[in-house]
Amino acid sequence: MIGCGDAFGAGGRFNTCFVVDDAHGRFAIDFGSSSLIALQSGKIDPESIDLVILSHLHGDHFGGLPFLLLYREFVASEETALTIAGPPGLAARLRALHDCFYPNTWKDHWSFPLNFVELQPSRTVKLGPRAVLTELVTHYAGPEPSLALRIITTSRTIVYSGDTGWDDALIPLVKDSDLFICDCNDLSDQPYKGHLSYQTLSAQFDRLQTKRLVLTHLGPDMLTASAELETECAFDGMEISL
Ligand SMILES: [Zn+2]
Ligand SMILES: [Zn+2]
Repeated sequence: MIGCGDAFGAGGRFNTCFVVDDAHGRFAIDFGSSSLIALQSGKIDPESIDLVILSHLHGDHFGGLPFLLLYREFVASEETALTIAGPPGLAARLRALHDCFYPNTWKDHWSFPLNFVELQPSRTVKLGPRAVLTELVTHYAGPEPSLALRIITTSRTIVYSGDTGWDDALIPLVKDSDLFICDCNDLSDQPYKGHLSYQTLSAQFDRLQTKRLVLTHLGPDMLTASAELETECAFDGMEISL
């Protein structure tokens, strides 16, 4: 758990980024605005990531990519390939973000192989030796869809809700998973329905067939309550073995 904070840095936590080491290398799930700093803080080589899988195109989930691209271009010692997979339209949104942050630095030909893969909802896509199934979830991030991710690698299944309100699509997506990382921004229901609250999510626990549920994207109320909850909550620097 490189970063499991909300969009506003509650508790001093970094934006969303989970790094997964598998038999094939290392990939990241989401790459928020502060994620390159979080990697450096955790002494994880940004060059070692061969794949980034994005749930949706909010800044706290993909805003760190311009920094990662420029790091790979100007700082990295090797020219290892990078694949970025995410919602349809991600390449155009990333280009717009990059041009805003660092004008005239986008490359048609980067010094490393850069590939984009669009993840169509309700389809399983092979990403080399890994496979990703996505489902639409309830969270507005522009015209590009917000996705929950079911990632299968090395005989393990990791499901990530992305940011979302409650959505029944999560039930089959989570089924028989080894790990379910789930948005739980608030302790109780809020007028904004784009995030899950513990109040809503806990009513669905019996339906979530996963070996391990870990809550992420914790806002201030959840951070305060987390020590008293029976449900496992993520923290930056948390390591999970599957
Ligand atoms: Zn978020
Ligand atoms: Zn979001």
